[in-house]
Amino acid sequence: MGTCVYENKNGEKCRGYALKNDSLCYFHSPQTKKERVIAAQKGGKVCQGDFRKDIQIESANDIIRLLETIINGVKSGKIDAKVANAVFYGANISLKAIELFKIQARLDEISKYIERQGNDFYTVTDEDCLDPLPLGEPGNE
Ligand SMILES: [Zn+2]
Repeated sequence: MGTCVYENKNGEKCRGYALKNDSLCYFHSPQTKKERVIAAQKGGKVCQGDFRKDIQIESANDIIRLLETIINGVKSGKIDAKVANAVFYGANISLKAIELFKIQARLDEISKYIERQGNDFYTVTDEDCLDPLPLGEPGNE
């Protein structure tokens, strides 16, 4: 999924996701104009049922479930494309945050490991120089 190529009068790019086989998002593609008019006529009915509930995002799975809900909501006309685009944008940021948390957790583990090893971790001993890793066996530890 690419990003919508639409630019407004100020030259600001749209942050929506382009539709399949389209360079424009749901909101800017002429293909979806009819649907958008119908959705706009429904006015106010942007969020219904489960969409009113607050959600908690703790994992990539939560984001996948959220995206499924939103995509289905847009398809059925229950969710306005503007709202969907805002959610997709937020979901993208959440995914990045989840990745950063994972990287931070891994760095913390590595830091603790290094601390446990003490100064020896960095010290190359004579033994290391005399007993090199066996050649020809990549990945052998
Ligand atoms: Zn767009």
